[in-house]
Amino acid sequence: MLMIGKNYKDLILARLAKVYLIVIFLFFNIIRFCIQELIPYKYKAEKRIRSNSFYPSFAKLIPDFDVIIKCQGCSAFRKKTVSGLCSLCSFYISAGWWDCLLNKNYTPSSEKNILDLKELIKLATKKIFGFDHLREGQLEAIEAYLNGKDTLVSIKTGGGKTLCYVICALIFEGITIVISPLKALIEDQKRELIQLGIPCASIYANTIQGRSEQEKIFEEIALGFTKILFITPKKLCLNREFQNFISNMYDKAKVRFVIDEAHCILNYSNFRESWKNLGILKKNWSTVPIMLLTATCTYKDAQDIRTSLEIQSTNFAMIRGSSFERKEITIEVYKRRDNRENFSNDLINLIKNHENGRIIIYCATQSGCDDLFATLQPLLPDKSLGVYHGGIGDEQRQIIISHWKDGKIQIMIGTNAFGMGVNSSDVYLVIHCVAPLNMSE
Ligand SMILES: [Zn+2]
Repeated sequence: MLMIGKNYKDLILARLAKVYLIVIFLFFNIIRFCIQELIPYKYKAEKRIRSNSFYPSFAKLIPDFDVIIKCQGCSAFRKKTVSGLCSLCSFYISAGWWDCLLNKNYTPSSEKNILDLKELIKLATKKIFGFDHLREGQLEAIEAYLNGKDTLVSIKTGGGKTLCYVICALIFEGITIVISPLKALIEDQKRELIQLGIPCASIYANTIQGRSEQEKIFEEIALGFTKILFITPKKLCLNREFQNFISNMYDKAKVRFVIDEAHCILNYSNFRESWKNLGILKKNWSTVPIMLLTATCTYKDAQDIRTSLEIQSTNFAMIRGSSFERKEITIEVYKRRDNRENFSNDLINLIKNHENGRIIIYCATQSGCDDLFATLQPLLPDKSLGVYHGGIGDEQRQIIISHWKDGKIQIMIGTNAFGMGVNSSDVYLVIHCVAPLNMSE
């Protein structure tokens, strides 16, 4: 009886513990994601600004953050102008948007300007990017999107797609949510934008992002400071609380969407299931314009993307950059030899004929990548090889990407998950061991 009693007690305790854990889990989930009510976050952030202890969520991406002379308008970025402002605050002042400065005590020395849309675009381009002119396609894309069109922008890699959505995000009063396929890409973009002095943040579906970091992000959103928020499709499609947050912003007409690497919508089976669910954007928030960014896209692909997102043809603009024709690319097709040794010899010969620049080798599967890496590495002792695919952990993938960017990896073997948004200008040879699904890959 005693034993039964003890077991019974243990059972009760175990059940209580389970309930307790569920309650804790729900509590943390609510704390982490209940972001509909932004006002308390706003008060907290304003208090920090008043007490001069504002430490933005992206501070660690700004070198020497603790010792640099900071902008008097936001206390977040490095001072760039003689009037004590960063590029962004200087843009706000020149645009006549004095209210956008976090420091409400800052008194501009100039008169308040009122600019039209073209002048604002020109001003933002000069102040943030330092360019006097936009490239062909960029102005049309920016104007179409800011005028409320769902806009597909097809400009080759390195052609300035980032500029298009960043300028739009700065001119738009609210927050621009950028949906991007991979965490590694997002982190890379975020770093790039912080270097430009643009307040942005990223949140993920499954991540060990500390609570204090997430709180800071929502404080900055509540202040209207964050201009760009990066998310993965998974976060958008699966997290109901995040959808509520968007609905809140939608009710105030303060949200816009950008889909980076939009061709993933067509190839979602190669990436993540969530891509096919992006139709929720128009279903839930029908009047929010979407900007779609892609490097290469045929007319048919563009129409397929449009229909899969349920975008009306009457509200759709397709903008292509000038140099769409890729004369610099040569495509050669070889018969793949069945014999493993002959196949690797053929690859080695191709690699040795391209001593300049770096090389990407695509395989169809993760195990194919690992096998090829194991085969090629001993045959190329003077080259540094890397492997990149979905089977590698997040942390390791970040390290591989950063080694690729630093030039420490000369030959990358990967699935087609690698390459999106990598923006390397010194890749002179791309080998597909298996025929790609379509020519734009
Ligand atoms: Zn500033």
